[in-house]
Amino acid sequence: MISYGKHSVNQQDIQAVVDVLENQFLTQGSQVPAFEKALCDYTGAAFCTAVNSGTSGLHVACLALGIGKGDIVWTSPNSFAASANCALYCGASVSFVDIDPSTRNMSVELFLLKLEDARRSNTLPKALVVVHFAGSSCEMETIRHQCKLHDIAIIEDAAHALGAQYNGKPVGGCEFSDLAVLSFHPVKSITTAEGGAVTTNNPDLAQQVLLYAKHGITRDNTLMQGDADGPWYYQQLCLGYNYRMSDIQAALGISQLARLDEFIVKRRHLVARYLKLLQDLPVRLPLAADLNTSSWHLFMIELTEHERAAVYQQLHEKDIAVNVHYIPIHFHPYYQSLGFKQGEYPNAEQFYYHALTLPLYVDLTDEQQDYVVSVLHDILS
Ligand SMILES: *Cc1c(COP(=O)(O)O)cnc(C)c1O
Repeated sequence: MISYGKHSVNQQDIQAVVDVLENQFLTQGSQVPAFEKALCDYTGAAFCTAVNSGTSGLHVACLALGIGKGDIVWTSPNSFAASANCALYCGASVSFVDIDPSTRNMSVELFLLKLEDARRSNTLPKALVVVHFAGSSCEMETIRHQCKLHDIAIIEDAAHALGAQYNGKPVGGCEFSDLAVLSFHPVKSITTAEGGAVTTNNPDLAQQVLLYAKHGITRDNTLMQGDADGPWYYQQLCLGYNYRMSDIQAALGISQLARLDEFIVKRRHLVARYLKLLQDLPVRLPLAADLNTSSWHLFMIELTEHERAAVYQQLHEKDIAVNVHYIPIHFHPYYQSLGFKQGEYPNAEQFYYHALTLPLYVDLTDEQQDYVVSVLHDILS
């Protein structure tokens, strides 16, 4: 079976994990800070906190911004539910900005219209969670400019986008955002099994992220109320969580991060081949303009003449485990119970009805890809 996405773990990755198990602290050792430093070096961000998942990262990013009851957060409906759930965890409410059908990212045009409405009705969001769908960056410069005018914070959900560039710089460097959140789930750019990280250039936000990810507890004297009783002392300053990453995971992350550039080269190689080999089929392809800037977490085609369910089924019968990204967040029964309706975000819905995610991962060979392409040709032409 050829899956849609898969991790690539080599002997060097395995050795890094074994070394921690044999010789080091399993958690709260030296590997987590080393991984955080490597992520800062890679992205250009000043601060990084590793956490136990991208979802935890989104949660603490919202908490660090002070998002709570009565606040509104906007995100894209074409994403994994975690992009919106993070706001709900904090007691805030969520609204969506529909996507641009060509980029499949939040539409800047619709964002501006929604901002205008929200300004008039006094329902401006406190924060925007922008999702760099499939690894192609949103139009951050314009979005940042508009958010500054309206005092709206920006969290980048960069779960797909480690290894991508925007304006010639790595995504995750937070040049046009307050915080960025990465995920290291096995299908993402690099893996730590489960894991995530939050980057920022703002020292106050970095401190809040750290606090919320570690029980709300600090050992830093300068943050304590009153004097420390002694060198053993710590204080809990807020209600935080245990979202720590283990050193076993961080060691894997360090080893994987060293391979990231090579991973991205491979993904771009495969995407260039797909773009060429599928160009005559009745499908809509992702933007070729993103070839050398996207991290290509996913490769989606949109069927223009065929029924998606049938094509999905036929590919599975040929051992090609294509997938579908994403069921719009507002389609989920939980979100429907909050009052969202089908039909509210037509671009994301149309994309969902026609989209098919083709196999794309580092260890996919050209021969396997050729097989996928030939099966697709048989089905579609
Ligand atoms: C994977 C993903 C997340 C969540 O990351 P986890 O590490 O699985 O918790 C959040 N947002 C998007 C867009 C994702 O694809």
